[in-house]
Amino acid sequence: MHSKIVLLPGDGIGPEVVGQAVRVLEAIATQFKHVFDFSSHLIGGIAIDQTGDALPESTTAACKGADAILLGAVGGPKWDDPNAKTRPEAGLLKIRKELGLFANLRPIVTFDELLDSSPLKRHIIEGTDILFFRELTGGLYFGASGLEELPDGQQRAFSTAVYTTSEVERIVRMAAAAAVKRRGKLTMVDKANVLEASRLWRRVSARIMKEEFPTVEYDVVLVDSMAMHLLSRPTSFDVVVTSNMFGDILTDEASMLPGSLGMLPSASLGSSGPGLYEPIHGSAPDIAGKGIANPLATILASAMLLRHSLGLEKEALAIESAVKKVLAAGHRTADLVPRGAASLGTIAITDLVLQALAA
Ligand code: NAD
Repeated sequence: MHSKIVLLPGDGIGPEVVGQAVRVLEAIATQFKHVFDFSSHLIGGIAIDQTGDALPESTTAACKGADAILLGAVGGPKWDDPNAKTRPEAGLLKIRKELGLFANLRPIVTFDELLDSSPLKRHIIEGTDILFFRELTGGLYFGASGLEELPDGQQRAFSTAVYTTSEVERIVRMAAAAAVKRRGKLTMVDKANVLEASRLWRRVSARIMKEEFPTVEYDVVLVDSMAMHLLSRPTSFDVVVTSNMFGDILTDEASMLPGSLGMLPSASLGSSGPGLYEPIHGSAPDIAGKGIANPLATILASAMLLRHSLGLEKEALAIESAVKKVLAAGHRTADLVPRGAASLGTIAITDLVLQALAA
């Protein structure tokens, strides 16, 4: 297979971790006889410094012509001035919009070797394997909002959660199709007892599931209950689908289950065109340039890229199993060990992943 992969290293530790994921993808290309063409483009703070724009036109054009995109992270204290004309995060929001990336996939998988790094008890989290689908381009973050001055001197602010039938249909379909390939279970999370937009979600998803996915076990859970269930019985969920804001909050809550930010990848997909893959962590300015960032989340994001954008399941599994082997052998980066304990740097842990791949 010959594929074009656009790299958006971004800021802070972004270039460090993306560089290591590229080494792993190159090893996969050699081992499985594929050709991956990589080209690197600007996004975020570095793009603002060099072009004045967090997402230059040339980056958008390159992304549109790619088969898949691998992103590091954007942002940092250098670009934090609240009065600045543009911010690094604007680049991220714009690329999602330009590419119509309406679904954010976040796998929450615990690694047996890291169970004791989690703030939750081992017997509760052991075996957790959830795939979240968060709607990414609608709902409360994109509906009409405003601020007005009232005659009595107060201010009144509002934000509205807006969804259309087709916006709900497309993400529920995508999530249900993923459930078919996994353990055959889909949970839809809403607040239908209060919100009209949630009642639309409930009607539309029930219809799609009945008409198109009758074999998938389907249930609905209210978002407040879900916040509790995630901490008390995470292993009972397979695929979870929900709206933008509920997904934002629940996926961050769930990211604590595996114990470290440095292990979690995510993907943003549209109905066609390239997907965008990235670690869920930020640019970690506190450790940038020190060679100690954990590259495993980005390496696992590259496995998602192979699976979801290039259809290379065997290759994706090879990366995931190599990462597991490295952890099982006891190797850790600094974020996974108690402060001051011996650990491996960004390059050294990737060397071991490459060795495990070749074995
Ligand atoms: P962060 O995820 O960058 O860092 C939080 C903590 O986790 C830090 O102590 C950091 O050192 C550590 N950490 C994160 N990733 C790590 C890794 N791979 N290996 C080892 N340790 C790791 O979050 P933050 O500090 O809140 O944000 C820093 C900057 O990143 C901000 O400018 C923020 O806006 C930006 N950010 C960007 C994205 C993105 O690009 N998608 C996401 C979140 C935050």
